Amino acid sequence: MANVAFIGLGNMGGPMAQNQIKAGHTVRVFDLSQPALDAAKAAGASVGATAADAAKDADCVITMLPAGAHVRQTYLSGGIFDAAKKGAIFIDCSTIDVPAAREVIKAAEDKGFLMVDAPVSGGIAAAAAGTLTFMVGGTGKSFAAAKPFLESMGKVIVHAGPAGNGQVAKVCNNMLLGISMIGTCEAFKLAERLGLDAQVLFDISSKASGQCWSMTSYCPVPGPVPTSPANRDYKPGFAAAMMLKDLKLSQDAAGAANMTTPIGKAATEFYEKFVKDGNGNVDFSGIIRAL
Ligand code: NAD
Repeated sequence: MANVAFIGLGNMGGPMAQNQIKAGHTVRVFDLSQPALDAAKAAGASVGATAADAAKDADCVITMLPAGAHVRQTYLSGGIFDAAKKGAIFIDCSTIDVPAAREVIKAAEDKGFLMVDAPVSGGIAAAAAGTLTFMVGGTGKSFAAAKPFLESMGKVIVHAGPAGNGQVAKVCNNMLLGISMIGTCEAFKLAERLGLDAQVLFDISSKASGQCWSMTSYCPVPGPVPTSPANRDYKPGFAAAMMLKDLKLSQDAAGAANMTTPIGKAATEFYEKFVKDGNGNVDFSGIIRAL
């Protein structure tokens, strides 16, 4: 069993850290929030005074932070590379911009460490159940070192290629998700306007060429998929503000790659307005209300 440092104990990181404890590792944590630290302590973790203190003598350091700025700050000026054990593996599971992911991995490798970017798909329930999907960027050696720790938190672990490619997979997937959700909402609204019952459209389309995850697993109208947030007044789930964050990352990535994604751009603008109108904490499928 290993010494695992876990930094960032929010909605996702809290339960993920608990799964490292359940796997039998000795876990030392850090977060800026005292309630998050208290919860981790109650679950069996010890608490570091700083990120570097949590990483002291760690074999594996996992971060689950809000955005690129937090990840950069933690890795580039937080002192964690000086604290961890020689040969330690660093795993950043946050969803961040591709350049930041590549920058921190290079900094780790310059110090002689292994590191991967490993953003996740699956929400809070999957984090708690240990059934997340990880999209992993890094060398083969880094992927092999990270895999056992990822297996304690997830079910599907895919090596997406070199450093940063986990984030590439994540932004492409979530851009498609934002687009497909808006498309699904438009189809259900149009059906309603033209006099077709939502359940009938679902029964047909979920088995026809319009079928997609936004319809079959996360249907934006109440009824057809009982577990979807539409059945609980669009309580998240996956908040619209989070979707907007990922869509903005996709647009930054497209700009950096010198290409445009017109439908991705339209989806970004649509979610931007939805969030600006006070719906940041509404599930992203609640955008059907804006149609
Ligand atoms: P969250 O806001 O609930 O948690 C972030 C935690 O990081 C907070 O506890 C905060 O106190 C802590 N933090 C911030 N700055 C810190 C610092 N410098 N040092 C230590 N701790 C710090 O966010 P979340 O929902 O857990 O999401 C985390 C990441 O996972 C994000 O990048 C998000 O995009 C991604 N993600 C979230 C979901 C989801 O459904 N919530 C799904 C997939 C991916």
